[in-house]
Amino acid sequence: MSESVVDPQTTNAAPPLFESWGRYPKYNANLIPLNWQSDFPGVVAGVKNGALPVGLGRSYGDVCLLDGGTLMPTTGMSRLLDFNPETGVLTAEAGISLAQVLDFAVPRGFFLPVTPGTKYVTLGGAIANDVHGKNHDAAGSFGNHVPCFELVRSDGSRRICSPTQNAEWFAATIGGMGLTGVITWVQLRLRPIVSRKIDYEGIQFHGIDEFLDLKHRYQDVEYTVSWVDCASTGKNFARGVFMLGEHSKVPGELTRTPEPKLSVPFDFPGFALNHTTVSMFNSVFFHKQMKQHVRTVQDYEPFFYPLDAVLHWNRGYGKRGLTQFQYAIPWEHAKEGTIAILREIAKSGLASFLAVLKAFGDVPSLGMMSFPQPGIMLALDFPIKPGLTFPLLERLGDMTREFGGRLYSAKDAAMTPEQYQAFYPQWQDFARFRDPLLNSSFWKRVTGDDSTL
Ligand SMILES: Cc1cc2nc3c(=O)[nH]c(=O)nc-3n(C[C@H](O)[C@H](O)[C@H](O)COP(=O)(O)OP(=O)(O)OC[C@H]3O[C@@H](n4cnc5c(N)ncnc54)[C@H](O)[C@@H]3O)c2cc1C
Repeated sequence: MSESVVDPQTTNAAPPLFESWGRYPKYNANLIPLNWQSDFPGVVAGVKNGALPVGLGRSYGDVCLLDGGTLMPTTGMSRLLDFNPETGVLTAEAGISLAQVLDFAVPRGFFLPVTPGTKYVTLGGAIANDVHGKNHDAAGSFGNHVPCFELVRSDGSRRICSPTQNAEWFAATIGGMGLTGVITWVQLRLRPIVSRKIDYEGIQFHGIDEFLDLKHRYQDVEYTVSWVDCASTGKNFARGVFMLGEHSKVPGELTRTPEPKLSVPFDFPGFALNHTTVSMFNSVFFHKQMKQHVRTVQDYEPFFYPLDAVLHWNRGYGKRGLTQFQYAIPWEHAKEGTIAILREIAKSGLASFLAVLKAFGDVPSLGMMSFPQPGIMLALDFPIKPGLTFPLLERLGDMTREFGGRLYSAKDAAMTPEQYQAFYPQWQDFARFRDPLLNSSFWKRVTGDDSTL
């Protein structure tokens, strides 16, 4: 979560502007941090225009924003509460980051059961978007590894939620976008490891058929993900690198990770990112792996978190920011949908690198509003270019809908209400669980429901 320096709690200045990781949109909001599990709802009594708990602001669009309302950062609630080395179950406050959990867990021979492509997200944020990782086939999404958590509502009620206790609230809160209440503490089942190392393989592919062949051939490998070139057409259309990894079984180092040293210190000018620079980047990335097939052993950091090595890399997209388009299309239409959408993106000439292609497995998500579903998932960033990016995103959203897929709310700044309500037809059922004090700019945008206490 980025903000300007003014704190409205201590000055009479206008509320500061907030932006998420995509840096679009930017909205005014008041700020009331939650530092103790007992802070909510007391500290926000009297708040007008609603409130929303937020973690580290690593969502891309407006799911962690509330224009004109009150944001409640939870990162002050970041204490470890308990750890059972027999079961691997960790109990911690919801504002702790996955980076902090790893610092504790790795030296003790444990790792996260599921991790997104950045470790700078909180436990609360990981549950609220039911995040997924490279092991979706084997492990499902984050909520599948959460035995229970506490949910606090604005009426002061506190619920312990698990698959058997307050099960409806458990399901609504996993993937519930922070709207059902504040998660104060969480239990998470960690998995054992014997080394920081990952046995890695990278295999070049040309086209979606080769990608699918590799997916079938390596379906027993725990972590799989691909980078795909979305800028190329012709013989290079949908070329990519299929990446596989397993935790090394050879006992080795189990140390903490040093802090990253690289940072993007300022906004790049808008022209730095265009079709030519993106094509060059993609070509270099594809040929960086000189051989068709490589095998190496690498540290888990570059395998899971290659982007975390450069802090504030989102500034590389300039002041206007970026948005991400991320779909999951079921197997029935996954291949034709992916080819058609990749063609549309390549044809648009709108610069985008860092495109990730992956298969989602069959493990059902426990969340009512969770994004993953079995099929193909594609995620790619677009710089915000006035008059160009949003018309393209609307077309891509409509295509996703035609192919029976859905888009990911955590990355979105562009879904229309019609698209959202078609992707998540259960949204009205979910709305019953929304806390009347809590709302987000995302929820208002896609449902039109702007009611708050
Ligand atoms: C580089 C990068 C890579 C990423 N890779 C992936 C990926 O591979 N897979 C994936 O699924 N996602 C990925 N993401 C998205 C990211 O994992 C999610 O958006 C995540 O939810 C962000 O967590 P956060 O702590 O920053 O929460 P925020 O972005 O601040 O908030 C996210 C949501 O959580 C809610 N929330 C936060 N804390 C609480 C709480 N205590 N109680 C109730 N609700 C709460 C907020 O209201 C909001 O709706 C990536 C993001 C980045 C920047």
